[in-house]
Amino acid sequence: MKIVILGAGYGGLRTAMNLEKLLRAHQMTDTVITLIDQNPYHQLIQELHHTATDGSDSRAAIYEIDQLIRGRQIEFICGRVEAILPGEQAVVLNDGQRISYERLVIGLGSITDFHGVPGAPEHTLPLRTYNDAVAIRDHVIAQFKAASEMRDAKEQRLALTTAIIGGGYTGCQLAGEFAVWVDRLCRDTGAPRSEVRIALLDRHDVLLHQFGRWANDVAERVLDRQRVSIYLNIDVEAVEPQLLRVSGNRVLRAGTIIWAAGVRAPDLIAQAGLPTDKMGRARVDRYLRVEDREDIFVLGDCAAIPAGLGDETVPATASYAMRQGEHLAEALFDEIQGRAARAYQPLKLGELVSLGPDDGVGTPLGMPVTGYTIQLLKKGIEQFYRSSITSF
Ligand SMILES: Cc1cc2nc3c(=O)[nH]c(=O)nc-3n(C[C@H](O)[C@H](O)[C@H](O)COP(=O)(O)OP(=O)(O)OC[C@H]3O[C@@H](n4cnc5c(N)ncnc54)[C@H](O)[C@@H]3O)c2cc1C
Repeated sequence: MKIVILGAGYGGLRTAMNLEKLLRAHQMTDTVITLIDQNPYHQLIQELHHTATDGSDSRAAIYEIDQLIRGRQIEFICGRVEAILPGEQAVVLNDGQRISYERLVIGLGSITDFHGVPGAPEHTLPLRTYNDAVAIRDHVIAQFKAASEMRDAKEQRLALTTAIIGGGYTGCQLAGEFAVWVDRLCRDTGAPRSEVRIALLDRHDVLLHQFGRWANDVAERVLDRQRVSIYLNIDVEAVEPQLLRVSGNRVLRAGTIIWAAGVRAPDLIAQAGLPTDKMGRARVDRYLRVEDREDIFVLGDCAAIPAGLGDETVPATASYAMRQGEHLAEALFDEIQGRAARAYQPLKLGELVSLGPDDGVGTPLGMPVTGYTIQLLKKGIEQFYRSSITSF
């Protein structure tokens, strides 16, 4: 069987690795696994807030895919998928290559959703990929260096003001890390700490709205202590160079504007004619299979997976994507062996949000937890993840 996996992210890489391991253990050599990614590296996206705010070892958040799969029966192609052709059981890459498949796994993650806000794609820095994180870090360092040489106080304050749009997971984690980083950045560049401003904006009346008010209260308290100014119930209506137009005819000026206000699935999925939800994610059944298609599976951020009996879908997080990858590897292996597939059961292990290096808030195993415990749990999980991909 020829299995093609699109995307070597949390879900796709896990599918490839676990399936290869199962096939190897059973000495089955007639299945070909092809893994395709636009980058030669696997990104630890959940650690990008460190990359964006830490100049010391930015490559800690990426692993070369060739190295990870060395000696394994996985063919890796570094290329950008331009089209999925379900009718022809093939995908087309940016160099014109056509790759055919018998089973296709789509794990292409998500892209930044600017929600149609004029000027946002041109004048904000998103945080979704490794390259985005490096661009944010380089931009901020340049702003601080420039500010240290400015004589005009107003200009200096503009250069040292950072606005983070989006007070969810990504925005809160970034704000917490950013607030600590600027102390060091001021020492290194000579920029005045007194002129540094960090603003975190959200359209909801709470931060981390997925968690409820208790988490907002913790996040507000921690971030406020770190001198992050929080603006809630604020809608960003337009973005211009170094300027935000927000609801109530107000204007906010900032030398750095970061967009952390949402993601959606890549357009490729809808363009392939697959059924999608309003975020462009492929609708799949409990077997992670696209409706009416036996040969296409979708997982992670680009899949709308039923969470239960109602309309609710499984959250888009790395931990879910990874477990969906584990499930798909077993499901594909069962199919190769002629066994009936089992349905995917989402396992609620809870979410963890860091708020700077020493604090956090989350729901491990469904329990509300705050403080350094979150950091310990997060570091433990990250370490476990790293060793799971480097020693598979
Ligand atoms: C800043 C940030 C922080 C986060 N923090 C956390 C956290 O703390 N905990 C948590 O659980 N989740 C976190 N998330 C969410 C988590 O990162 C995602 O849910 C997870 O990455 C989804 O995994 P995936 O396999 O679906 O996609 P990804 O891991 O995004 O992988 C998709 C892969 O597809 C590749 N790709 C995309 N398009 C193409 C194309 N056209 N051709 C070829 N290759 C392509 C990409 O290069 C990438 O390697 C965070 C997200 C962000 C943005």
